[in-house]
Amino acid sequence: MAKLSVRDVDVRGKRVLVRVDFNLPVKEDGNKVEITDDTRIREALPTINYLREHKARMILMSHFGRPKGKRAPKYSLRPVADHLHTLINQPVIFSQDTIGEVPTKIVGAMRDCDVTLLENLRFQPEEEANDPKFAGALAELGDIYVNDAFGAAHRAHASTAGIAMFMNVRAMGLLMEKELKYLHEELDKPAKPFVVIMGGAKVSDKIGVLKALMQKADAIMIGGAMANTFFKAQGIPIGASRVEADKIDLATELLDLAKKRGVKFRLPIDIVEAQEIKPGAKMGNTSRLSPNSGITAGWQAVDIGCATIALFEEEIAKAKTILWNGPVGIFEIPDFARGTIAIAEALAKSRATTIIGGGDSVTAVKQAGLADKMTFISTGGGASLELLEGKELPGIAALSDK
Ligand code: ADP
Ligand code: MG
Repeated sequence: MAKLSVRDVDVRGKRVLVRVDFNLPVKEDGNKVEITDDTRIREALPTINYLREHKARMILMSHFGRPKGKRAPKYSLRPVADHLHTLINQPVIFSQDTIGEVPTKIVGAMRDCDVTLLENLRFQPEEEANDPKFAGALAELGDIYVNDAFGAAHRAHASTAGIAMFMNVRAMGLLMEKELKYLHEELDKPAKPFVVIMGGAKVSDKIGVLKALMQKADAIMIGGAMANTFFKAQGIPIGASRVEADKIDLATELLDLAKKRGVKFRLPIDIVEAQEIKPGAKMGNTSRLSPNSGITAGWQAVDIGCATIALFEEEIAKAKTILWNGPVGIFEIPDFARGTIAIAEALAKSRATTIIGGGDSVTAVKQAGLADKMTFISTGGGASLELLEGKELPGIAALSDK
């Protein structure tokens, strides 16, 4: 059932408690962390600005890093409050506690359009434990609950799930709404042909998604380390490539399932191999893969080859809907990034609806400078995978039905 949107709620003069995802990527240096990317704050701005325009009193809450239930100054959200101030040109009140006297006093003195940010929710062990007392204390701070933290929606924590019990009105924010529009509605009945590109580190991370997508996709193309497990299942030598030796049966099962469903299941037909995983490593020739000619003993598969790129481009050109999850090579090393960049370029050129999910694939698209050429880029790695698997996410289940 469709969920209530913040746009359906009268927020004027109300205390609106908003769960955002300000879990920003950082560079750690001993006791300091440096924020390297503020995209997640910017992604929350539509909801924040909507609430300001509609004269709500906004109390923002988020987790940040993994302080493991203890106060860790380096994971304080205070600098984030300062940064948000510069993004919205309005002072952001900061509450050094998440519950209790400090935020209660602050919220009691708030006026319409004011914005308060609570300290890192994960300073309290009760957050991840989904403790009802903590959830109830958070709920005291607001009249209306809004969840805009899609990236945390697959976690049943106090601020995403437990809080539902204590709030009558629980709406999705504008980012959450957009995520569900593309990852849920759009992919539920995708315009055909629907082509999926799956890559990344492990088959085991993506079994559920692959199985679920077999019901809808016309073609599934596999790249990345995950392809190696399928090679092995087919008796193709994989040298010293990364593989999940205990997932070979599963790979066979997925290959059979694709055949049964009539889904085109495309594995790489050639591979770039290298002697080591490091910049400047010695690279070999790319050769066609077959049971008698695979990856050289002692060498590793690091990217898809050019024949595979051409094959994948052909499918991409035919598609009306494309979902991409997981880089097809070790794109962090420029020599091994050609396949991943080629896929990003093919998607950018395509007129299909292009949807990118998964943390590293998103990074790859951004690195290629092609983010604005995609229809939709998800902000949730784990959450997007679970949604694509067809699982019910606690943070979404907790919201009021429309
Ligand atoms: P996403 O975050 O997009 O879902 P994953 O986390 O599943 O993607 O996988 C991304 C990682 O997979 C990257 O760090 C990349 O270096 C790695 N990877 C891709 N291809 C290979 C390969 N052939 N061998 C080893 N690692 C690979
Ligand atoms: Mg990842």
